[in-house]
Amino acid sequence: MKKETFVTKEKLDEIIQQVPTPFHLYDEAGIRKNAQAMKEAFAWNKGFREYFAVKANPNPFLIDILKEYDCGCDCSSMTELMLAKAMGCAGERTMFSSNDTPPEEFQYAYDIDAIVNFDDITHIQCFEETVGTFPKTMSCRYNPGGLFKISNDIMDNPGDAKYGMTTEQLFESFRILKSKGVENFGIHAFLASNTVTNEYYPMLAKVLFEVAVKLQKETGAKIKFINLSGGVGIPYRPEQEPNDIRVIGEGVHKVYDEVLTAAGMGDVAIYTELGRFMMGPYGCLVTKAIHEKNTHKRYIGVDACAVNLMRPAMYGAYHHITVMGKENKPCDHMYDVTGSLCENNDKFAIDRMLPEIDMGDVLVIHDTGAHGFAMGYNYNGKLKSAEVLLKEDGSFSVIRRAETAADYFATLNDFPIYKKIIEG
Ligand SMILES: *Cc1c(COP(=O)(O)O)cnc(C)c1O
Repeated sequence: MKKETFVTKEKLDEIIQQVPTPFHLYDEAGIRKNAQAMKEAFAWNKGFREYFAVKANPNPFLIDILKEYDCGCDCSSMTELMLAKAMGCAGERTMFSSNDTPPEEFQYAYDIDAIVNFDDITHIQCFEETVGTFPKTMSCRYNPGGLFKISNDIMDNPGDAKYGMTTEQLFESFRILKSKGVENFGIHAFLASNTVTNEYYPMLAKVLFEVAVKLQKETGAKIKFINLSGGVGIPYRPEQEPNDIRVIGEGVHKVYDEVLTAAGMGDVAIYTELGRFMMGPYGCLVTKAIHEKNTHKRYIGVDACAVNLMRPAMYGAYHHITVMGKENKPCDHMYDVTGSLCENNDKFAIDRMLPEIDMGDVLVIHDTGAHGFAMGYNYNGKLKSAEVLLKEDGSFSVIRRAETAADYFATLNDFPIYKKIIEG
């Protein structure tokens, strides 16, 4: 599929007049359309809820949009929990799916009535010692191990993942929690990441539904929800076929009827914790070409760098690039598109065929709405960019300002050096 930008060149030029590059731009119309489709795809399930994985994009303005589609928050740290609470998501609209969890975060999650999802059997004791009691509803994260395959394709390697409990630990945890008065149970698993296939969720659902039937039968624990977590992917590459959430929802529905309804468990709620699928395609990084260099290769230097978007440097991930205004020009130039970090992996693209780029050209780096800005860091003293929302009516607003030098040095502000740096 041809990858197109959600913003026109004219609109982008207008935004750039007011907000200097680089910045992340988000597409309200796209976010809404997708969130609505998500909701409809699982409308067959009475208790369904998507808990947006806050780590993918913790911007309150975007979370607010998702809330209109009944989304909650999936959190895995103290600050994410604080944000979820401030967003009005305390209680059953917050899922706390953490790992390697500090005890004080369990306490806070309990205090705001979040649903706690234990990653490990030892967390039961830790929680009890910290909090002193258990809420009525608790969840456990499952990791069956081995490889996760669809047909003959290896999707991911759960046996190598740090998350979740073994089958034995899962059963044991349910028994212990039940003996301690927990009444309702959830099961959670995340077995493959960024799956670009409609088969992942239905296959995962089958694994979890079968375990749920066994668990309820053998331990007497009442299963209230099954959390399919994240992992539904997006087509970063033009040749990839996007997932169809309607087909995915129907696939899960079919397995639900075959396994759960057949076992008399037709009241189990389905939860999801999608991040990438909810936000990924509806964000892009807008940057300008500022430097051309011809040595052993041809380089285009831009004003963004890996601190604005880490995925290419970290995973070698592909992000499509559009040179604005040159969409129909031939891609007859091979470039490495680089940032300015003193790190040779600071490249948004390697050996990429693009139209000839002139200095000042605006480059749109696609699919940065999830795990984009959020993964940012401050290496080389680089500052985080602004975030801008392109609204449905065509207007736009800055939903996070760019970091300033004062922000960067703020953790030194108790020391005399701070004044010296800031005041020059
Ligand atoms: C990262 C994460 C998600 C979201 O994953 P996506 O690939 O963005 O859908 C959901 N749940 C948990 C526990 C996670 O760690």
